[in-house]
Amino acid sequence: CGIFAYMNYRVPRTRKEIFETLIKGLQRLEYRGYDSAEQDSMDLKMEFDTHFGIAHTRWATHGVPNAVNSHPQRSDKDNEFVVIHNGIITNYKDLRKFLESKGYEFESETDTETIAKLIKYVFDNQETEDVTFSTLVERVIQQLEGAFALVFKSIHYPGEAVATRRGSPLLIGVRSKYKLSTEQVPILYRTRNIENVKNICKTRVKRLDSSTCLHAVGNKAVEFFFASDASAIIEHTNRVIFLEDDDIAAVADGKLSIHRIKRLASDDPSRAIQTLQ
Ligand code: GLU
Repeated sequence: CGIFAYMNYRVPRTRKEIFETLIKGLQRLEYRGYDSAEQDSMDLKMEFDTHFGIAHTRWATHGVPNAVNSHPQRSDKDNEFVVIHNGIITNYKDLRKFLESKGYEFESETDTETIAKLIKYVFDNQETEDVTFSTLVERVIQQLEGAFALVFKSIHYPGEAVATRRGSPLLIGVRSKYKLSTEQVPILYRTRNIENVKNICKTRVKRLDSSTCLHAVGNKAVEFFFASDASAIIEHTNRVIFLEDDDIAAVADGKLSIHRIKRLASDDPSRAIQTLQ
């Protein structure tokens, strides 16, 4: 399938422009899945500092192509958490059974809906109030088997986006007319002093195995494009970051930070923005 998501920070855009960006992104990815397409864009009003929309074309693996099986899949009727997914969750039956035993009612036949419900379950059962969005996603993907590229949004974390992948491709394009600052945090430094990492990244990242932090200097306007394929991003920017397996990318306050769970990133200590030809 095709995933396309767009988030901007302090970029004046009309609602129409944002829808057009999403639709164009999907059109570029159409060859990846054409069963159904849907998009979600709850906070596109101009008075917000941030605009964030997610869109998806589906190549159905679980559940027939219809409206209720199309993405985003949601945690509940209030759309507390919504997610777009490329791939297959092989252990979704067990997860679904577990969630149903906890009282969650499923509306679709997709494997993806278990992800949306699982993140709500983790959120509802967190031990502290201030768990970050990326920590929730980290806990969710630790339970998932199979292949996935995911982009999440939540009414509990307005103006924030979290994306992750394992096995399915996902990349992030970055556009800003202002200078971007990239901060690499070396492993020793990271593991020794997590407080310093948090200060450097200026985000509420809780646990890091590896980290990159990227933002427009001085809180200037910046746009982020999330896509399964570079063809959907190239018309906006040639500055891209290819996510690797188990990377979690979080955008908040115009800053993108990426950290990798489980595996230490010793093979790749200097993540860089790459330039597409
Ligand atoms: N397995 C998911 C579904 O059937 C996602 C399929 C896709 O990659 O489009 O809904």
